[in-house]
Amino acid sequence: MRRRPFHEVPPTDGLPLRLADLLPGSGDLAGTLAAQLGTPPMLLTCSGTAAFMVALRTLSEREPRRREVVVPAYTCPLVAIAVHALGLRLRLCDTRAGHFDMDEAALSSVCSEETLAVVPTHLAGLVADVDAANRIAGRVGAWVIEDAAQALGATQHGHSVGLRGDIGFFSLAAGKGLSIYEGGLLTSRDATLREAMRRTHEAMLPYDRGWEWRRSLELLGLAALYRPVGLTVAYGMPLQRRLRRGDTVAAVGDDFPARIPMHRVGTWRQGVGARAAARWPGFLAERRARAAQRIDRLRRIDGLAVLVPREDSEGSWPFLLLRFPDAARCNAVLGDLWCAGVGVSRLFVHALTDYAYLADRVPRAPTPHARSFAQCTATLSNSAWLDDATFERVAQAMERVLTTDEAPAMSPCAPR
Ligand SMILES: *Cc1c(COP(=O)(O)O)cnc(C)c1O
Repeated sequence: MRRRPFHEVPPTDGLPLRLADLLPGSGDLAGTLAAQLGTPPMLLTCSGTAAFMVALRTLSEREPRRREVVVPAYTCPLVAIAVHALGLRLRLCDTRAGHFDMDEAALSSVCSEETLAVVPTHLAGLVADVDAANRIAGRVGAWVIEDAAQALGATQHGHSVGLRGDIGFFSLAAGKGLSIYEGGLLTSRDATLREAMRRTHEAMLPYDRGWEWRRSLELLGLAALYRPVGLTVAYGMPLQRRLRRGDTVAAVGDDFPARIPMHRVGTWRQGVGARAAARWPGFLAERRARAAQRIDRLRRIDGLAVLVPREDSEGSWPFLLLRFPDAARCNAVLGDLWCAGVGVSRLFVHALTDYAYLADRVPRAPTPHARSFAQCTATLSNSAWLDDATFERVAQAMERVLTTDEAPAMSPCAPR
């Protein structure tokens, strides 16, 4: 598909910042979001990963003999890096066929008396099966930490995700929805656990002027460039360069450094986030309406599956997660659209076992469903900057690939 010059749609639908958000002044970001989402008080951390690490450290201080953390085999590499950084052992649970959620039988078989925590993960703003995780973790006496990094605003039975398990965390990173460039939120229904996590947070995360300066400048850069023209330079051009080299891991930003920065979030960034958060409920409502419309269209494409929420839940739709019948067709669609500036991308390019750079931190367990899910899925932005006409052209491009008998082999961003 041909690119429209100087118009790049972001892969996820983030809330754009306004100039007035950036004025000096503090604000209660965690309190604002807790009130909107109807959660208990939340702790603001410097990233979702830091929130996860505070949760894990708090739990392992209570049960030092339990050393294993069970995560889905298809998830963010930062999760594996965090577990390793704390000296804990990662256990992978394969996913259900054709899905990102953990398979119940696989989960039962990896959980044991060694398990510290099980981490059901709400990807793409969709809701994972926390009840199953609670049941299986409960049998071995492990805790449940909900990874809701991609699911701020998603609900089950009308309640925010992150509260059915023992602990839940969210991400405020760039590209996750509502962003202060890097940030995270951590909560629990249990007041004792919340207090313990607050103390861990105080001990683990110092004030650090250098990091806060850096993040503040990055946030200004994000505010300036998060629009179709700016994204051409900040996102589209590096993406094309990486894909031309064949480096898909770098292209989607799956290549994370081994050290996780740990510091407190400063008052200015909290204020920016709080002012932007005032627009979050309205933004989320628009996003849901747009997703509903677009799913209706995509469902008419034979062979294409759009992942949708379980029936007792409502998604938050930062992007749509699309599953193709096989890797060849998925690659053909990506070959046509990944570099076209229309918001088509991959979520994580591999199952955790298949990242070469993580080989020292991830066990070599076979997780065939997760691998196949990684190979057969792509994402489509739910940004309003993907206008209806362009969306229709994207749908037709997918239709073409799925209706021809032989998917053409295309490498993304090959010069035409
Ligand atoms: C992004 C992400 C994280 C980490 O959050 P950061 O705020 O980027 O540290 C954890 N889990 C999942 C599933 C994610 O997508």
